[in-house]
Amino acid sequence: MDNCLFCRIACGQIPARKVYEDTEILAFHDINPARPVHLLVIPKRHITSLATVVEETDVPVLGRMLALASRLASENGSPDGFRVIINTGRIGHQEVQHLHAHIVGGPDPVGPMLKRV
Ligand code: AMP
Ligand code: ZN
Repeated sequence: MDNCLFCRIACGQIPARKVYEDTEILAFHDINPARPVHLLVIPKRHITSLATVVEETDVPVLGRMLALASRLASENGSPDGFRVIINTGRIGHQEVQHLHAHIVGGPDPVGPMLKRV
């Protein structure tokens, strides 16, 4: 996916402040953090969103991404909990069309989950 921002970060064409990397997964600091701790965890292989997940091929990497969240939060300044957000599609306000989990946290609670309408 030549034109995909996170594919380009995954293959090193665009720099990122990496905090974790293995053969399947990359985690890095969000460029515009919404909280003192704001990481993004991505599969290196292009998956557009949770709406396009193929169960047989994508479930293992999704599981590994979630399983890493606690460790990444602890190691990066949010040891007492964190929130994982995966925005999906237009309704979910997904801006980058490469599946990513936001890990947000810091020293203070991140606040209510959503503003009620
Ligand atoms: P979403 O709205 O869930 O698609 O979130 C996309 C996130 O990617 C936003 O929080 C952006 O700040 C972040 N972002 C965009 N470009 C970069 C980049 N080059 N490096 C790190 N984070 C980025
Ligand atoms: Zn991609």
